[in-house]
Amino acid sequence: MSSSVIDFVATEARFGAHNYEPIGVVLSRGEGVWVWDTDGNRYLDCLSAYSAVSQGHCHPKILAAMVEQAQRLTLTSRAFHNDQLALFYEEIAALTGSHKVLPMNSGAEAVESAIKSVRKWGYEVKGVPDGQAEIIVCANNFHGRTLGIVGFSTDPETRAHFGPFAPGFRIIPFGDAAALEDAITPNTVAFLVEPIQGEAGVIIPPAGYFTEVRKLCTANNVMLVLDEIQTGLGRTGKLLAEQHEGIEADVTLLGKALSGGFYPVSAVLSNNDVLGTLRPGQHGSTFGGNPLACAVARAAIRVLVEEGMIENAARQGARFLEGLNDIRSNTIREVRGRGLMLAVELDPEAGRARRYCEALQAKGILAKDTHEHTIRIAPPLVITSDQVDWALEQLTTTLTQNFS
Ligand SMILES: *Cc1c(COP(=O)(O)O)cnc(C)c1O
Repeated sequence: MSSSVIDFVATEARFGAHNYEPIGVVLSRGEGVWVWDTDGNRYLDCLSAYSAVSQGHCHPKILAAMVEQAQRLTLTSRAFHNDQLALFYEEIAALTGSHKVLPMNSGAEAVESAIKSVRKWGYEVKGVPDGQAEIIVCANNFHGRTLGIVGFSTDPETRAHFGPFAPGFRIIPFGDAAALEDAITPNTVAFLVEPIQGEAGVIIPPAGYFTEVRKLCTANNVMLVLDEIQTGLGRTGKLLAEQHEGIEADVTLLGKALSGGFYPVSAVLSNNDVLGTLRPGQHGSTFGGNPLACAVARAAIRVLVEEGMIENAARQGARFLEGLNDIRSNTIREVRGRGLMLAVELDPEAGRARRYCEALQAKGILAKDTHEHTIRIAPPLVITSDQVDWALEQLTTTLTQNFS
């Protein structure tokens, strides 16, 4: 059967734009924390589709909701009401304490929608002169791949030869509240930031950072926009990562696990009048808020809460982090993590993280490198203690192995 593997890989390479460099495994089935390749080999998924499959692969209750809804009604467009959107609004608002919801599809669309909304709020409520709105963002951010977003990335690979870019963004270091204070001007409408920088390699800011950020934003009438597309919905051991510092964002962005991996669903949540500035005809999406998306998201949220996945993420994340910290190896430079959002940064001398990911694959673990030297570990939130311990055994062997 391994000839079929070569076929899938070669055919992708032949026809596909080469904008990814996948690990050489072809997956055909998933259940809970496990995925299987076309040869029937089983792997523990330690990427969870970049945290989109937090509820585990093919969760039966989300699947049932999706099938049931797909047989009834899938798409109406927002030209008409449907009987799922109101329920989705009600449930996500109750869960997060938000007052307004804007449904979109991908994470990048939620980010773009938030940028449009805070600019509009800036002009119509804060009184910023038209065309002068500024949004502050952080170095090493990751907010998606659209043109608007990559324009304020600091990663050369992300930006190179995609310009010209939109103006109106100011970049400051992450985790530095004084830098935020210095960057705020009367025209600043928002500070857009990840609670933990995921793609940058699970970078956790210093304790107290977001408390300071919250104070500065409030004092200067600047909207705090937290991109919780990766950190939200239990990944860090709390429903939202903002809860680790007991703060509340003005605008919260959700995506990824909002559908448990079944369907692209994202949302902009706001607890003030930011989304209130949008009037009919000023923003929209053909698929945003469709009944299938809403039914899937409702089930995805329900199982996350009812099955205790958030608490499990806290518990298993602590166990995983402790186990990683116990690995004695010159290969490891630093271990970082909160909840089940974990990373092992390798010593640059140890070579690229990718070859460790390939070695892990041979041991039945799928993980993904980021930024050359970091292995990220983000299993589904349904992982058990035994599975964590097994993963730690494989990681220990791999990270103490000599490649040279
Ligand atoms: C994945 C991600 C996005 C983009 O989501 P897409 O669905 O890929 O567009 C935005 N922000 C953060 C923090 C992410 O992790």
